[in-house]
Amino acid sequence: DDRISRIASSIRIIPNFPKPGIMFQDITTMLLDPKAFKDTIDLFVERYKGKDISVVAGVEARGFIFGPPIALAIGAKFVPMRKPGKLPGAVISEEYSLEYGTDKMEMHVGAVEAGERAIIIDDLIATGGTLSAALKLLERVGVQVVESACLIELPELKGRERLGDNPLFVLIKSA
Ligand code: 5GP
Repeated sequence: DDRISRIASSIRIIPNFPKPGIMFQDITTMLLDPKAFKDTIDLFVERYKGKDISVVAGVEARGFIFGPPIALAIGAKFVPMRKPGKLPGAVISEEYSLEYGTDKMEMHVGAVEAGERAIIIDDLIATGGTLSAALKLLERVGVQVVESACLIELPELKGRERLGDNPLFVLIKSA
């Protein structure tokens, strides 16, 4: 698909951000190219339309950019998965490990119902800690996660393995 190469070349790499040694994949430059941005959304919509998916769960923060247009196009609800203390209502939360220490992800109680079919969207999977926390939160409330989806995978970090048997779909694999 020649849309993928345009998307890939619109993503900028910033060395040593947010700390020395990290090659940060900056998707904000892709958002500046309306064709690349639309192609990105279209590729996900083509994959998930008509698959009886009623929930698009987006991971803070960049899952909030890609999740809503996909949700609207496939006729699903959008559910934000947020950093702790941001959601105003009652939440359920899931702790996950980072390189140093732990973090937490939260979802509103009542946002989803048991038996719903969901996809999870984020911009990038590195170690897989973030996506696996989102997966656990949804599975705890009885939601069937059909697939997780990201623009970019860093395969060397083996994040895919942390998702177990749950499928992961990515547009771009990056070194
Ligand atoms: P993981 O939990 O898989 O180790 O890290 C993935 C999370 O960190 C995602 O929410 C993603 O947005 C963020 N992240 C880590 N590295 C990068 C990067 O190079 N570029 C971007 N855009 N996000 C990153």
